[in-house]
Amino acid sequence: MKAVIFKEHGDIDQLIYIDVPEPKIGPDEILVRVRACALNHLDIWTRLGMPGVPIPLPHILGCDIAGEISKIGANVKNLKASERVVLAPGISCGSCAWCLSGWDSLCARFQIIGLQVDGGYAEFVKVPARNVIPVSSRLSWEEWAACPLVFLTAWHMLVTRAELKKGERVLIHAAGSGVGSAAIQIAKWIGAEVLTTIGSEEKEKCAKQLGANHVINYRKTDFSKEVRRLTENRGVEVVLEHTGTETFAQSLATLSRKGRLVTCGVTSGASTSIDIRFLFIHQLSILGCYMGGCKELDRVLELIESGVFKPIVDSVFPLADAKAAQKRMLERKNFGKIVLKT
Ligand SMILES: [Zn+2]
Repeated sequence: MKAVIFKEHGDIDQLIYIDVPEPKIGPDEILVRVRACALNHLDIWTRLGMPGVPIPLPHILGCDIAGEISKIGANVKNLKASERVVLAPGISCGSCAWCLSGWDSLCARFQIIGLQVDGGYAEFVKVPARNVIPVSSRLSWEEWAACPLVFLTAWHMLVTRAELKKGERVLIHAAGSGVGSAAIQIAKWIGAEVLTTIGSEEKEKCAKQLGANHVINYRKTDFSKEVRRLTENRGVEVVLEHTGTETFAQSLATLSRKGRLVTCGVTSGASTSIDIRFLFIHQLSILGCYMGGCKELDRVLELIESGVFKPIVDSVFPLADAKAAQKRMLERKNFGKIVLKT
């Protein structure tokens, strides 16, 4: 099969489009013919290599996958060949206390497709049968691939962790990012007032179309001052943070008293410094998020099936052009998801 692999960690030139053997499935696994695979910043971190995370080499990236069932393991009874499916990006044991209580991403055996195991930058991928979720044909392959990771993460952040409520104000960073564009829709569905940031003029219209009430160009204005101005100096109850170094301390400064900051990523760097006094005097909460659980994914896909949420596809590249696709993401040119078609 065709795949994009890397043999060593490093820059974008490590990605090679090549023929590799098709994966062989075990009795509890499914082989999926990948039709589309969306990019995530996780792909970049995985390619670069992360301290303490063993990544088998050579490696195939990609955790957001839509496709058709090609082969079914002997023990699997509930799935049919050729069914249209999306894949849950997280693999967990399904039987420990964390998994049973819906906190799959805290499972000691938790892995992400395309991180610790081969992913969807390929014509075929093998996964445990419990990661396979049948879907309708109301969305295209590219649209389905654009759903799982970002909608699950944004749901876990706003609904499960921050417990965002109707009437509250939320600042969502980077409207054009996958998580940002999903989070704006979820926050509006909850009934919150949405403030969001963008890095270029042309993204303003798209952010407004998604439902954002206020759009702040962070390259032109200091976003924390602008949030203070827009909220009559009260601040927002919730900040959805996924940028890290460039924004984290200022994000805390946009919070109202007893505000909650939820974080799931560090696209601009992982270190920051904060004044702890500010944290306790205003009684703020910092909540960490790492993807989400199967039950949350089922719920969010249900809302996508019923048309409440819409995946935003920025652009589609052939699998062979994975380098150009990653470059577009690194240059922050996208509004919505960048997808590879195989
Ligand atoms: Zn478990």
